[in-house]
Amino acid sequence: MTIELINTGSELLLGRVLNTHQQWICRQLADHGYTVQRQVAVPDGGDAIQQAVREGLERADLVITTGGLGPTCDDLTRDRIAELLGRPLQFDGTIESHIRKFFESRGRPVPVRTRVETLVPEGAEVWMNAHGTAPGLAMEVPADSQRPGGRASRLVLLPGPPRELRPMFLQQALPAIHRWFPHEEAFVCRTLKTTGLGESLMEERIGGPLQPLIASGLDLGFCARVGEVDVRFTARGAGAGALVAEAEAIARRLVGDTIFGEQDDRLEEVVIREFAALGRTLAIAESCTGGHLTNRLTNVPGASAVLLAGFVTYANQAKIDALGVPEALLAAHGAVSEPVARAMAEGARRVTGADFAVATTGIAGPGGGTAEKPVGTVYIAVAGPLGIEVQRRLNTFDRETFKFTTCQQAMALLRFQARLVPE
Ligand code: ATP
Repeated sequence: MTIELINTGSELLLGRVLNTHQQWICRQLADHGYTVQRQVAVPDGGDAIQQAVREGLERADLVITTGGLGPTCDDLTRDRIAELLGRPLQFDGTIESHIRKFFESRGRPVPVRTRVETLVPEGAEVWMNAHGTAPGLAMEVPADSQRPGGRASRLVLLPGPPRELRPMFLQQALPAIHRWFPHEEAFVCRTLKTTGLGESLMEERIGGPLQPLIASGLDLGFCARVGEVDVRFTARGAGAGALVAEAEAIARRLVGDTIFGEQDDRLEEVVIREFAALGRTLAIAESCTGGHLTNRLTNVPGASAVLLAGFVTYANQAKIDALGVPEALLAAHGAVSEPVARAMAEGARRVTGADFAVATTGIAGPGGGTAEKPVGTVYIAVAGPLGIEVQRRLNTFDRETFKFTTCQQAMALLRFQARLVPE
């Protein structure tokens, strides 16, 4: 089965918007056993879209377009595809009432221009947009349409905004794709999310022991991103489930301490989930991460049940005033030091009464390093019911990557310490 993806939007070709749909949709499809053979980005303006769809339909069983379904004058995907396929646009009352409710619930008048979103190419299946107004559209394009030849194809039109596209893809498009193109044999895919080991070390640890399974058909893949490595197992056929399960068991035995989640889990979600499940509370004292850790944890729904306070104590005086870090400690060891990290975590725990506190203090750079404490040096402390652990790390990156990586390490240490405490 062949799939082609057409991302529309002049902003993609002007470099003003990163084409995340390309990566995200390809990844979702791959995780479900479907591979995209070709992807193209085309500018707004109907001709390019029409031509790309015409060519895609000549080759592919499934063509997916993104963007250009909205109400503005550059949103031409729906019109030009209807024209290409010779399907008149027809008014759909259910879309109109969806749009009316969408604006009513926000206390805003319905813009006249949304009228175009109520028009549907004849015979198209309508996927209501749970997070916006423009519906997704799915069409069967029979072999005898305007296409020069080939089999019948499916054409899927998705809205451009990621927060509209992603839920629609997962909840409406993927189940439909499974229905239209069922796998001939079982396909199993499992991704383990890890932190704390680089890609090559990860491969060194698990690649060898997994060789026998790879010889039996297991596909092992790694994807390194900042502060994380995804380990992906896939297999096809009758024994796929057992093969992947066995691979996962081996990985958990060998590198279990680095595995924090599965599929699309994020470390901050896992921390909040685990702390909330056990009714544990947390306080954060940040210096070099400047609130990034608190920001990430508070992005997670339900964080309020866990997080009592996040202190951004950048200056020495703030560490003294807010966390009670002794002035003498700062004078003797400097703000970036093991004793100060320890005192910050202790102070945050004491001041808030939280079960656990985590602290970060380091030198993000590019200036401020010394021979003893080079740029990138960071101390991470976790205080909990069993005591305090402090780790020294060297994160020599740009400032944003430094912050992200330090937060990964802080959350990993926090989880490690929390798991030592009986439930
Ligand atoms: P709208 O109702 O917002 O006009 P639409 O379906 O017409 O929706 P577009 O206008 O093409 O979609 O895109 C809307 C916004 O979604 C873009 O401005 C951009 O920020 C984002 N977007 C579109 N395509 C992509 C993409 N491929 N990758 C990432 N973001 C995208």
